[in-house]
Amino acid sequence: MLMTKLKSREAIASLASGKVFIINCFGCKEVGFPEEEAKALQKELAEAGKVVGVLTTDYICNPDELALRLRGPMAQISEADAVLVFSCGVGVQTLSEVLEDKPVYACCDTIELPGFQGVTPLEYDCGQCGECFLNLTGGICPITACSKSLVNGPCGGTSHNGKCEVCPDMDCGWERIIERLKAQGRLDVLKCPTQLHDFNTDEATKAAKESE
Ligand code: SF4
Ligand code: SF4
Repeated sequence: MLMTKLKSREAIASLASGKVFIINCFGCKEVGFPEEEAKALQKELAEAGKVVGVLTTDYICNPDELALRLRGPMAQISEADAVLVFSCGVGVQTLSEVLEDKPVYACCDTIELPGFQGVTPLEYDCGQCGECFLNLTGGICPITACSKSLVNGPCGGTSHNGKCEVCPDMDCGWERIIERLKAQGRLDVLKCPTQLHDFNTDEATKAAKESE
């Protein structure tokens, strides 16, 4: 089981500086979702004239199904400056890959809960870190795509062919992030102050502290 919680109202408002298309994934039984809160916030964005369309569906982590469901609203998505996604981190990563040229923003943080994690054959991985970085990394998770889970840039160990120094068979996650941001003309987002992951938000860390 995973849980998602909405990012702050201010954070979501800043992601909707232009016109947005909204994608909700409310259907997965393995993910707890703050549906009512999300609907209220989306109503405010619509009333402010920001929303060009909404798609509410399930299992957006399945790339084949997702491609089919995006066929209908693709014209509206093209009109939007960005796509706001209300789902767990896996759904946002899947969409970022399918809509590679478009900024795709996570509106939720994904939190770990113990127990059954679902049966969907997932293409992308979310470490359920509790503080989603995908909006700064072109929709590629730095926690799972980088062997060292670095959140503030590459370690310098990338080999010349773009492979990771820890796992030579794996593409360096940070090379992928930089290439994705370059292609979207958004490399500037990495100029933000040093990102540090607050491990206090991790459920495992909280549980360890409580047991001390
Ligand atoms: S940064 Fe990665 S691990 Fe953290 S919530 Fe986002 S997708 Fe999940
Ligand atoms: S080479 Fe790339 S993926 Fe590997 S640890 Fe360094 S930054 Fe992370």
